[in-house]
Amino acid sequence: MKRAPNTDLRGRTAIVCGASSGIGLAIAEELDRAGANVAMFARRRQLLEKEADRIGALAVQGDLTSPRDLRKLVERTIGTFGGIDILVNNGGGPPAGPALEIDDESLEDAVTLLLFSAVRLTNLCLPHLRESKAGRIINITSSAVREPIDNLALSNAVRPGLVGWAKTLSHELGSQGITVNSIAPGRIATERLEELYETRSRDEDLAQIPLGRFGDPHEVAAVVAFLASGAASYVTGTLIPVDGGASRGLL
Ligand code: NAD
Repeated sequence: MKRAPNTDLRGRTAIVCGASSGIGLAIAEELDRAGANVAMFARRRQLLEKEADRIGALAVQGDLTSPRDLRKLVERTIGTFGGIDILVNNGGGPPAGPALEIDDESLEDAVTLLLFSAVRLTNLCLPHLRESKAGRIINITSSAVREPIDNLALSNAVRPGLVGWAKTLSHELGSQGITVNSIAPGRIATERLEELYETRSRDEDLAQIPLGRFGDPHEVAAVVAFLASGAASYVTGTLIPVDGGASRGLL
């Protein structure tokens, strides 16, 4: 008899951050399609509630930079679904700009948005991920962690710290059956990309992508759904590019 696919997420609960648009919204849709209960977290209440209603997910409005909002996210998810199996750390990116213009305030904001939020929320979720039969932590970062992108100095400076933390965490949690992986999207067609093309050339970027087009958010979400599933049970501590072949390095 043929075996059932190992990508079914029925009976599992996922938290997806930055879920009102772009990559986060596509991830919420994809995990829901695979059968998971999904808690969607983002700042824009109306948009978030509209999308969560459409998908049939739980909407929790809040800001990733607020420890109180992160506690509320975990409490509401546990109150509604009774557990947490999958955590997707995702959100907005820091403003574009050169390294010469980084000051204390912009650096602190970027560290709070990109690093503190993921570490804090993961720590809040860990007691529940430990209760899961197969806990999953998945971070959405950027191709900038492999190849820094001109004029995105804050992203280039702070995101590698997240990947370093995730790699270390994967070693510490392996014995508890929890996997920790990160995804490095290249150029994905979202609101964020449109903002970036206010200050850089779209055609020059397209010319660097072997597949000859920008990615669709669902092409990132499909990799997240795989990592969240039983099919990825022996994958941990990795950084997976989803960039249409744009990064030039071998590893
Ligand atoms: P997006 O701007 O389209 O969506 C970001 C989502 O996060 C939105 O739902 C927004 O409301 C939410 N969000 C932003 N700040 C938040 C906060 N403080 N608290 C709660 N929610 C918040 O962005 P995207 O293109 O989907 O990108 C997602 C992540 O991937 C970002 O960190 C981005 O920098 C990164 N990334 C994107 C690309 C790309 O080409 N789109 C490439 C590499 C990396």
